[in-house]
Amino acid sequence: MINHVSEIPIEGITYKQLRIEKKPLTPEYVPPPPELVPAAKRAVCIDPSRTCMPFGAMWATLGVHRAIPFVQGAQGCTTYVRYTFSRIFREPASIATASFHEDAAVFGGRKNLIRGVRNLVCRYKPELIAIVTTCSSEVIGDDIQSFLAEAQDLMEEEFGPEVLDLTKFVVVNTPSFAGSHVEGYNRAAHEFLKALSRKSGQPSEDLYFIPGFLMPGDLRELKHLFELMGVSYHILFDISDTLDCPLVGMPNKIPYYPPGGTRVEEFVRAGDAKAIFALSPDAGGAGAKWLSRRHKVSAFVLPMPIGVGNTDELLKTVSEVSGRPIPEAIRWERGILLDAMADTLHYTMMKRVAICGDPDFAAAATRFVCELGMIPTYILVGTKSSSAAEEIWKVCEEYNYKPVIMNGSDQFEWEYALKNDKPDVILGHSRCVNISKEIRVPLVRFGFPVYDRIGYQREPIVGYRGGERFLARIVNAILDHHYPDDRTHQ
Ligand code: SF4
Repeated sequence: MINHVSEIPIEGITYKQLRIEKKPLTPEYVPPPPELVPAAKRAVCIDPSRTCMPFGAMWATLGVHRAIPFVQGAQGCTTYVRYTFSRIFREPASIATASFHEDAAVFGGRKNLIRGVRNLVCRYKPELIAIVTTCSSEVIGDDIQSFLAEAQDLMEEEFGPEVLDLTKFVVVNTPSFAGSHVEGYNRAAHEFLKALSRKSGQPSEDLYFIPGFLMPGDLRELKHLFELMGVSYHILFDISDTLDCPLVGMPNKIPYYPPGGTRVEEFVRAGDAKAIFALSPDAGGAGAKWLSRRHKVSAFVLPMPIGVGNTDELLKTVSEVSGRPIPEAIRWERGILLDAMADTLHYTMMKRVAICGDPDFAAAATRFVCELGMIPTYILVGTKSSSAAEEIWKVCEEYNYKPVIMNGSDQFEWEYALKNDKPDVILGHSRCVNISKEIRVPLVRFGFPVYDRIGYQREPIVGYRGGERFLARIVNAILDHHYPDDRTHQ
């Protein structure tokens, strides 16, 4: 496994040359007063920067062709997820629910699962059903595997054995009290590969990628890079043409499935892959590691390819594994990003930035802002992650900064710090809007979830072209803001 790349395979300006000598301005951390109990010591979480575990498993499932999540829980566990998908993507998202009521809470959800799965198979003819558990079914102790076996037996009796060939099942246990949406996605990656992948003994040259919570625009940017390199690739949980596509055949075509998504056969052939890459260590890393352990496929768990260094690392690794060189067209894109960084350095340089996001987004954004000459001050990682905290420390040591990392904390604590030590810019998701307005600091939206910007999901932030767009957003936010006279800019 390659964890660090010291040299860039691309001609031109090397990564080391990007380093800018400057005096670090990160302030010494002023501890909060005793009456502000830190999140880690509180019984409650105030303004969490994360959502519930089943959400991540549902996100992953919706990136699979003709797949439907079946949520073994109450309707609310599904309704708010569908609402969030609609807010982010403004697309229909088919999610089925076992619709627990009082009787299920007392007697368990066996009947609900058996009837629900049968209805789904009859009416929607999905190629895959992912049974996603919730807090209630986990607390009740529903034995999902035995319920599913019973449902399959009954369907075989009623419809014949072919029905089981047509629909695959994956069970993802997602008790939300044990983790966030990040862990839900991670578990889904693990369970999908465990349930579906096979080794045929005929190795392929194909590279597999698990993207995590990247947006459709990001996935298209990754495809653009891999196509320029001429590698044979598969993106697992590919939401680019399921959660962002024209409504082909609507409304007459029932059941309606969008044209895209990873095919079940692609999961099956993953056991023969040449390598698998997890582009979000905390959201998908478990799947890559499992495939490596079980089928001896080389696994690479890399930082999210945001900014110059992380994109270099991804492309260099892909180039080494596939034997394909990095073409001139990609070097050109890299050159344009570097040019844009040089053109705007006087706006970004020494600007103090607070970051809020999921572990992989927060770690990658920290490197990118350091590359831009900005100073990270308070970094809130909404889902606790030791690997993200390590990565952030590694980056900040490289650039000689000492930010405060609030690992697994909540926005209440982060907000307190920001009110006492105002940054110049905030990088964060849509739930940071109120803090940004209150302390009058511009917010650059990125990561998950962004639901109050039209078109965000189509604008990439990964790769060199994505980096250029992300940079433009940061600089335009700075240009739009009225800073005090001592921090003016032209
Ligand atoms: S936290 Fe638990 S009960 Fe609430 S929506 Fe998520 S799974 Fe359902």
